Amino acid sequence: MKGLLHDGLVARPWAVEVSIEAVRLRARAPDDASIDLDWPLPDVQETLRSDGRYSLSRNEEDARIIVEADDWRALSGRSGAAIRRSGRRREARLISSLTVAGLGVAALVFVGIPMAARPLALNTPPALESRFGANMERQLSVPFRACSSSPRGAALLSGLGARLGAASDTPFPIRVRAVQAPFVNAFALPGGTILVTGELIARAEGPDELAAVLAHEIAHIERRHAMQAAWRAMGAGLLLDAVVGGGSGAGQQLIVLAGGFADHRFSRALEAEADQRAIELLRAEEISTRGMADFFGRLANREDTLKLRAAAEWFQTHPDTANRAEAARRAIRPGRPALSQQEWIVLRKVCR
Ligand SMILES: [Zn+2]
Repeated sequence: MKGLLHDGLVARPWAVEVSIEAVRLRARAPDDASIDLDWPLPDVQETLRSDGRYSLSRNEEDARIIVEADDWRALSGRSGAAIRRSGRRREARLISSLTVAGLGVAALVFVGIPMAARPLALNTPPALESRFGANMERQLSVPFRACSSSPRGAALLSGLGARLGAASDTPFPIRVRAVQAPFVNAFALPGGTILVTGELIARAEGPDELAAVLAHEIAHIERRHAMQAAWRAMGAGLLLDAVVGGGSGAGQQLIVLAGGFADHRFSRALEAEADQRAIELLRAEEISTRGMADFFGRLANREDTLKLRAAAEWFQTHPDTANRAEAARRAIRPGRPALSQQEWIVLRKVCR
């Protein structure tokens, strides 16, 4: 099926061939091999435009694919996949479902649980959070295998994390592990474990940039953001299942639909909080905060985003990178390098 790809970088759209392969939407330009979009179908959001065509997009990304309505209905219909509808239509659907479930429940789910998530997270016993995190880590160790090329590199990595962790107020010991993954990202699990992808370490242009990422993740741990997100998801899901009736899947469905609403605002707020705290942690360790501005700045460099699809993974979990790069730039203070050049060379061998 034919489509037009607006990559959000240049005004001229790309003529692309759009297809669905298993559970992914692909868009390739026949005359440019670097144009090769690959989105998981559940992330794809369709919006019916006023001209009768569909616009397909994915979360925070700027790229849009414009397709003819009939073509798209035929293609997405054949795949049998549930595509997320965006904008007013989705809202209308959600509101009518919720009217059935009762407006009181709606208020509780959308206002009550999110507001309660923070106090719930802050009052979760650390032992419980640790257990939750350990469980999660076990599950993640299957798709994300640990890097084990250099024990000395691994020790330097966890040492840097421990040093920044000591400057924070977290009840959890900070453990940093490098994992094999073909994209740039870092994850703070509940309970103090941070997973950093080998690709992020390879892409960082110095120890200060890596230190900035670790400080940011430590801030997520200190503020118990993963627990807040978990309470939001679990609390709302449990409640809806109780109301709609367990096993019907309707409660789950509703949560998936509703997730798109609040989550962007929620995650933006958490990211901004983590950035701010990360700057404090870096300063406490007298590490230059320039690394943070440099790293975000490079990721936010729009010219790279489409070709470096790897970076898109970071955008998905860390929205608003351009603004955050700007905020980090304003906060730059000089400091000492987080590691010596020698140590940095050793650390980078951890995933090779
Ligand atoms: Zn973050």
